Amino acid sequence: MPDKEIHIIDWILKKTEDKQQRDKINARKRARRFENKKWSVDNNIFFCESCRTCWSNVTKYIDGSKWKKYPKGFIPSIGKKRKECPHCE
Ligand SMILES: [Zn+2]
Repeated sequence: MPDKEIHIIDWILKKTEDKQQRDKINARKRARRFENKKWSVDNNIFFCESCRTCWSNVTKYIDGSKWKKYPKGFIPSIGKKRKECPHCE
C-alpha cells in the first residue's frame, strides 16, 4: 500500500522536525541560563584595595579554596564593590 508508506514517511519527517524544533528551543534556554550565571558571577566580583586585585567567591565545585583572584587588568575594578579578599583580611 504506497499510500500508507508515504503517510509513515511524513510522520517520521514531522517527528524529526519536532525534535529539531525542541533542540533549538532547549539550546536557547541553555544559552539564557548561561547568561544569567555570567551576570550573577560578575555581580559577585569584589575589588580588594589592599592588594589591588579583583576577586570573587566561587563554589567549591570550581575551586577548593572557595575564592579566586583575577589577574591584574583582567577585570575593570570600576563599579566593583570594595571588599578585602580573604588573603588580606
Ligand atoms: Zn587582597
